[in-house]
Amino acid sequence: MIVTIDGPAAAGKGTLARRLAAALGYVYLDTGAIYRAVAKSMLDAGGDPDDPGEAAAHAQTLDPAMLDDPGLRGEAVGDAASRVAALPAVRTALLAFQRRVAATPPGAVLDGRDTGTVVCPEAELKLFVTAGLEERARRRLEELRSKGETLMLPEVLAEVAARDSRDRTRLTAPLRPADDAVEIDTTGMTPDAVFQRAWLLAMERLAALQRGSGGR
Ligand code: C5P
Repeated sequence: MIVTIDGPAAAGKGTLARRLAAALGYVYLDTGAIYRAVAKSMLDAGGDPDDPGEAAAHAQTLDPAMLDDPGLRGEAVGDAASRVAALPAVRTALLAFQRRVAATPPGAVLDGRDTGTVVCPEAELKLFVTAGLEERARRRLEELRSKGETLMLPEVLAEVAARDSRDRTRLTAPLRPADDAVEIDTTGMTPDAVFQRAWLLAMERLAALQRGSGGR
């Protein structure tokens, strides 16, 4: 089974996806880390994240070992990631890698912006995870502060809002729920409650697949 979890920045996708993958015994792919890795390798090389040719070259030579680099999590890299992610040549260069990981038996959980709409439109379970802008900005602030960044809420709120707007309005693979996605609004929910909801949906879906009905 392939599970896709899409949604805006800091909605709780990563926490949920990692936990769901571990509980199911599936591989987990944070697709945002791929765009972040491309952005970071460009920034490190002194490149311009809005230059399509340069960005595509970095995407084509991406080393998957970079995905574990703790330096990917900063807000500057996140902002540059959403710029390179708007470039069609970059997205095309990264598709095959994402689909290869998604095909790992016995299953995979992917999180990102377009995993249910473009990367794996055939996924058996698609979740669209959201939360109010203020709550997402607060969560991102906590994450960044725990990593030593000294930012204030208004700054983070503005950056998260700008990134959302860029992700939703770009022409290639914009952020939107797949038609068959189940939406979970995590505002005011604990990570445990979000996991329980997703776990039940996954169990229902697996049971339906085993019955051979596809469950839809
Ligand atoms: O999820 P994360 O904040 O790490 O993603 C960084 C950026 O990468 C996002 O703002 C988005 O522009 C881009 N991204 C994307 N498609 C994905 C995952 C991330 O465009 N599937």
